[in-house]
Amino acid sequence: MGIRFPYRGWLLDLDGTVYLGEQLIPGAAVAIAALREAGRRVAFLSNKPLQTRDDYAAKLSRLGVPATADDVINSSLVLARHLRTKLNIALQAVRGGARLIATNPDRTCPVEGGEIPDCAGMIAAVEAVTDTKVELIVGKPSPIILEVALRALGCAASESVIVGDRVETDMVMGKRLGLATILVLSGVTHADDPRIAALAPDHVLRSVRELIV
Ligand SMILES: [Mg+2]
Repeated sequence: MGIRFPYRGWLLDLDGTVYLGEQLIPGAAVAIAALREAGRRVAFLSNKPLQTRDDYAAKLSRLGVPATADDVINSSLVLARHLRTKLNIALQAVRGGARLIATNPDRTCPVEGGEIPDCAGMIAAVEAVTDTKVELIVGKPSPIILEVALRALGCAASESVIVGDRVETDMVMGKRLGLATILVLSGVTHADDPRIAALAPDHVLRSVRELIV
């Protein structure tokens, strides 16, 4: 079994790339095991702030991809909880001069059979009630989360690749920050999406199964 791509560092998105809800994308376990066996550095890079890194590692391990918390980078749990559960706190805080920062810009999260709302809805709600624009988003496509991820990999951007299903986060981050880009069509992006031609990821695959031959 061989790996089709030469990159040393691999950042793999989770939702829509490695799994959908509670279902592993077919072939993901074998592909990731092959990357690791070949000595490639692998980390999981999710914008989803809802659970802890331990939770994501436990889920990956349960689904057949052994992982520890150190293998997982996700956007801030504390900030997301704050915004998700206490809109009024955000309003009062901004009125009091607080700066508005968000974990991730994703509109939806792919799950089995569809999508569920993600952080963009809450960003819009907070911006509307506070009449203030979010000034900083720390999740993908921000350089802030990438810096953490590359440190975890121990690789430079120029020798790394991001594998993800979302154009405006995974692919935009890779293009902007000098990583190679592999778009997988197992999540929210469909093959006829005009943004694929516009952004021109380095590779477009049906799923992570196609990382290996
Ligand atoms: Mg995704």
